[in-house]
Amino acid sequence: MTDKEQFKQLSYERKCVYEVISENEKKDMFTLCEEYKDFLNKGKTERECVAQSVKAAENAGFVKLENKSSLSAGDKIYTVNRDKNIMLAVIGTDDITNGFNLVGAHIDSPRLDLKQNPLYESDGLALFKTHYYGGIKKYQWPAMPLALHGVICKKDGSCINVCIGEGENDPVFCVTDLLPHLGKDQMSKKMTDGIEGEALNILVGGMGIGDSDVSEKVKYNILKILNEKYGITETDFLSAEIEAVPAHKASDVGLDRSMIGAYGQDDRVCAFTSLKSIIDIDTPKKTAMCLLVDKEEIGSTGNTGMLSAFFEMTVAEIIEKMTGACSVTTLNKVIKNCACLSSDVGAAVDPTYENVSEKKNASFAGQGMVLMKYTGSRGKSGASDASAEFVCEIRKILDNNNVIWQTSELGKVDQGGGGTIAQYVANLNIDVIDCGVPVLSMHSPFEVAAKGDIYMAYRSYIAFYKDR
Ligand code: MN
Ligand code: MN
Repeated sequence: MTDKEQFKQLSYERKCVYEVISENEKKDMFTLCEEYKDFLNKGKTERECVAQSVKAAENAGFVKLENKSSLSAGDKIYTVNRDKNIMLAVIGTDDITNGFNLVGAHIDSPRLDLKQNPLYESDGLALFKTHYYGGIKKYQWPAMPLALHGVICKKDGSCINVCIGEGENDPVFCVTDLLPHLGKDQMSKKMTDGIEGEALNILVGGMGIGDSDVSEKVKYNILKILNEKYGITETDFLSAEIEAVPAHKASDVGLDRSMIGAYGQDDRVCAFTSLKSIIDIDTPKKTAMCLLVDKEEIGSTGNTGMLSAFFEMTVAEIIEKMTGACSVTTLNKVIKNCACLSSDVGAAVDPTYENVSEKKNASFAGQGMVLMKYTGSRGKSGASDASAEFVCEIRKILDNNNVIWQTSELGKVDQGGGGTIAQYVANLNIDVIDCGVPVLSMHSPFEVAAKGDIYMAYRSYIAFYKDR
């Protein structure tokens, strides 16, 4: 063996997905990504993602957990929590006390939420006040077509689904920005202050109606339109959840069509691949579960986030339906023996901003699924740090299944940082590790992910369900 060969054998080297996969695998990758783009276009809110997941699951033979009185190997079930959070499972052949395999992803994304009393008129225009959700760079949101998605719940018990701005002939909405000609003061501000939170107002109308007795004629017209279309009055906004999201559809990026650009890929890229893998697996040895949660972008709080008791309550119900009973001790034992892939996006090295990454420990677009032993910030603060034993278990599974994967931290030490649902899964006494797809422009209205990495994330979850 030459020194060169031996050096190669002894050292760690990243691989590029496209240099390794076969032509057939490449075909599978492109097919998978077409399906993924459709998922993105139809699921721009957590509620829409849940509805789509239910549809996909039912088409694949999954039934509602509530409708099953007992469960046995091969059964495929799902259960929905408040329309924003869903758990799916395929019951395995193994004794449930040996634990199950969980893949968890989140389906909420940064956006602009309408405030509770949003509508106002000013200077002959009607606008909606918003309150941004999640970590956004506020300057990225003006001067771009937006769509409105959500629900309005009325006192008569009905809830109306709203989706305006997605159809070809739909109107869209926007946050206006200042013209450069008059932007002298604005442009000398720090980027964080250039667009203020209270400046993210959405333009919704500009044509007044009514006689001279009505003081706000544009607002009056908008209220009349809303009343005709949805039967609502302004008061009904108080019990509504409406999210303004980018109106654009997912597209291929690049002359080689190697990437996908879209809104909300954090974390629907992992939600889609996790969902797709639990739908595609055969009856596994260990029970397979897929949990899609809401509220990750604001700290996993609330009854539909990872911190909700929904997960444990559902696990208890599954155990009871498998074995006839579920004591606290049994539940604890099952949970302790679980393993979880917290599937969330990583930060791909951006050639324009590569100085924020430490390239030996950063992820690159096209170099496979990214495994993140820990996240956190500063001295790993707030991190869930997977044990060496668990990392080893996972890397063995990935390698045995020819998954191309890479390791990464979230940026240089002391550059910033972040967290995922992993820390809350870990709190339950479960082995968990972050893994997912590296993206560019994370949290922006147009995030970019490499198709090779999306394909490898899907392959990782399949391998995990099958072999762990
Ligand atoms: Mn995320
Ligand atoms: Mn995020």
